[in-house]
Amino acid sequence: MPLYTYRARVPETACETCRELIEVFQKFSEAPIAMCPQCGNPIVRIMHSTPTLRDSSNKTILSDDNLKKHGFKKLVNRGGGKFDEVV
Ligand SMILES: [Zn+2]
Repeated sequence: MPLYTYRARVPETACETCRELIEVFQKFSEAPIAMCPQCGNPIVRIMHSTPTLRDSSNKTILSDDNLKKHGFKKLVNRGGGKFDEVV
């Protein structure tokens, strides 16, 4: 069962539970939880909450291989108005 992360939609009115992240095990078929079980404030599901995930995906998107695959060119400034095409 996947672990979902929730966070208060409005942190100003959130209780201690939903001001921090709430982690809930749910089936794929289960509907997302709409409110905090403690205070009833609206909460939102966060898809990718961990910084490590975000970092690695950024690296993949901007990698030379990925740029090439999507038809982008990457130029590196060599100074003096010269650019080398590296991808
Ligand atoms: Zn709450």
